Amino acid sequence: MEALPDFRLHRPTTLAEAVAILAETPAARPLAGGTDLIVNMRRGLVEAPALVDLGDVAALRSMEAGAQGLRIGAGVTLSALAAEPTVARDYPAIAEAAAAVAGSTHRNAGTVGGNLCLDTRCIYYNQSDWWRRSNDYCLKYRGEICHVAPKSKRCFAAFSGDLAPALLIHDAVVEIAGPGGSRRIPLADLYTGDGIDYLALVPGEVLASVHVPPGRTGLPQAYAKARVRGAIDFPLVGLAVGLRMEGGGIGELRAALTAVDMRPFPIAGTEAFAGRPADEDTARAFGELAREQASPMRTTTVKPWYRRRVAAALARRLLLQLAAN
Ligand code: SF4
Repeated sequence: MEALPDFRLHRPTTLAEAVAILAETPAARPLAGGTDLIVNMRRGLVEAPALVDLGDVAALRSMEAGAQGLRIGAGVTLSALAAEPTVARDYPAIAEAAAAVAGSTHRNAGTVGGNLCLDTRCIYYNQSDWWRRSNDYCLKYRGEICHVAPKSKRCFAAFSGDLAPALLIHDAVVEIAGPGGSRRIPLADLYTGDGIDYLALVPGEVLASVHVPPGRTGLPQAYAKARVRGAIDFPLVGLAVGLRMEGGGIGELRAALTAVDMRPFPIAGTEAFAGRPADEDTARAFGELAREQASPMRTTTVKPWYRRRVAAALARRLLLQLAAN
């Protein structure tokens, strides 16, 4: 791997100071755990003359659960989130997703904000500079064509963060701090669906926290992912499901996918399952719904058709598992 290029390091202690530095230096990048950004800088995928290390901003590292739901600071590490007893009890899919990210050393450094803002991934992009140069680069960085879909002018790099679907089943909201103050938007709206400009953030803005409203606290839920290397890998498919049974039938079914599109997204149409028994036929129909809405492209070594089938299998399995519990 290439050497890390030179950059200036800022270490603010307040969010206001961090935002001010980012606003003054538009090419600066916020640095959280660095498990994605530093690797991408070494590969020449990110050029940043300055990094704004958010590690000393104490306000980003707090987490509170109560009657208002769950508030998670963007600087909370994934291992701390996975180990928090309240999260494991009331929002198990969130704890499971945090525990499923990469390997333990990544989770000790990687943060909630970093995972939600993870750069989109593609087999033609996450390569060394000499490899990409020998292939004339691609649309996402420096090049003029997309190797995945050469006739397209779009980038189909996949968003591959694990946490987002587990938060989407709760209709989570994110707080964004920026030069104009702070604003809140639904987590689903943080993602644009464009593989290049994949986040709806303007220069100078940083993700400050994520809020899980209390409406579905304690909803039976689970997260599952398929990956090439079980011990440490990005998802080929990641799926969160929430299932509430009522009077022998399905009361509420929520589901969201990651790694099969340029953005994580809730599966549409799950309300049609209300009242149905949570049996094998329903699980198979739910799996088909997940398969239809997953739209992976040839961005990994694993074929898109296989990833769609895996999405169906995970959906079927999680529905039956939650119903049995
Ligand atoms: Fe590049 Fe196309 Fe892959 Fe996007 S999907 S990173 S443009 S090859």
